[in-house]
Amino acid sequence: MGSGKVTTGSAPFDFQGKHVTVAGLGVSGIPAARALHARGALVTVVNDGDDARSREQAEALEALGITVRLGDGATLPEGTELIVTTPGWQPGKPLFQAAAEAGVPVWGDVELAWRLRGPDAAPWLAVTGTNGKTTTVRMLAAILEAAGLRTAAVGNIGVSLLDVVLGEETYDVLAVELSSYQLHWAPSLRAHSAAVLNLAPDHLDWHGSMEAYAADKGRIYAGNQVACVYNVADKATEDLVREADVEEGCRAIGFTLGTPGPSQLGVVDGILVDRAFVENRQKNAQELAEVSDVQPPAPHNIANALAAAALARAFGVPAQAVRDGLRSFRPDAHRIEHVADLDGVAYVDDSKATNTHAAQASLAAYESIVWIAGGLAKGATFDELVAASAKHLRAVVLIGADRALIREALARHAPEVPVVDLDRTDTGAMLQAVTEAKRLAVAGDTVLLAPACASMDMFTNYNQRGDAFATAVGELRA
Ligand code: ADP
Repeated sequence: MGSGKVTTGSAPFDFQGKHVTVAGLGVSGIPAARALHARGALVTVVNDGDDARSREQAEALEALGITVRLGDGATLPEGTELIVTTPGWQPGKPLFQAAAEAGVPVWGDVELAWRLRGPDAAPWLAVTGTNGKTTTVRMLAAILEAAGLRTAAVGNIGVSLLDVVLGEETYDVLAVELSSYQLHWAPSLRAHSAAVLNLAPDHLDWHGSMEAYAADKGRIYAGNQVACVYNVADKATEDLVREADVEEGCRAIGFTLGTPGPSQLGVVDGILVDRAFVENRQKNAQELAEVSDVQPPAPHNIANALAAAALARAFGVPAQAVRDGLRSFRPDAHRIEHVADLDGVAYVDDSKATNTHAAQASLAAYESIVWIAGGLAKGATFDELVAASAKHLRAVVLIGADRALIREALARHAPEVPVVDLDRTDTGAMLQAVTEAKRLAVAGDTVLLAPACASMDMFTNYNQRGDAFATAVGELRA
């Protein structure tokens, strides 16, 4: 960590009379345009699409006096002094190239929210990582609530930071989920403390390279005041802490599934312990909770709980609130969700495992698995996942457009594992997949939907895929 370098934070920004271009209509573009307009900015919204829906949205904005240009998101409007972009826009787009050439700054929705915070706004405890963000942020909010703090889980989790910052509600502290897209365009964000949970290749089409993706994730540590929380088992996260410029006195805090060293949180004999936020950390440790307090107690989820605990402890939360918060936490749907037990076989829905890193964590959590996998690979390769998971596999049922990639990896690294390859991508394929899985499973096994792929070849989203799994399991039971 670059010690002692005091960051400047965000200067108040006067929008009055400024020419601001908002890139993109939609869920974050429209509120951004309205908020900027309300602060006296001269707003132009540019949008690639020009369909009936965007025309309707444009009309509503134009009625307020906001200019909207549909069907041309590439040209920088004359006189633009600032661009505010929405997360979907890739950094390589011509509009941003034009902005860079003209020296025009670009902010994302998070940067805008950060700049519009009031002087007494709540500090942010921020979380990013390739997997586990939503779970960790929800655990963190549960812990902060258990400590009696006014808080909310916000950001990429589906609650717009702009809405929170501009809303009536007041908070003591916010648990903020940030995506790599949001961090890319958030140059002046300064969190109280932040965690990077893990780093595996994902969204590389958007960022351009693994280095660029990691660098964007690493921005979350910039200007941290109390703690930069990293994953001891994932050296790349620690490297990001080392490279960060933080406030004087900010500490690097590791979390580990093993015995923690000083300045770490970890696990000893089934107990989550803190050796970071205690007096005399060379000798002392504080018990926080039991592993069985974490639901579900899969290893990667214990890691999420430790990261959440580290951020809460950095904020001064007592140990008991960590335990109470973790006990009250319930995971969101489709995240290692136990659906049913049939004939001694557990059926688990981890439809949210949309990349190989997530699926690998999920497969490591069960002894003997009939694995339902496949979908859209998004450029991923499956060798590492299959090689690491082979010993847990009773059998595999493959679905979806890119299933051949997984089949080939299985042939290379787990040739003895039986594979059923369902040559169909219609929605009804899930019932057949679950029926095949039931046939292959024996008592004590887990039938695990952890597709390692996106769902859009067969379903609207991972929610619908998980629901289809649960419905199919219900039909088997009937
Ligand atoms: P995100 O918000 O980052 O997508 P979620 O909490 O929604 O993360 O979890 C997504 C999926 O990632 C889960 O269904 C699970 O398969 C996997 N997962 C959760 N936590 C971790 C972790 N710490 N490491 C690896 N995989 C994880």
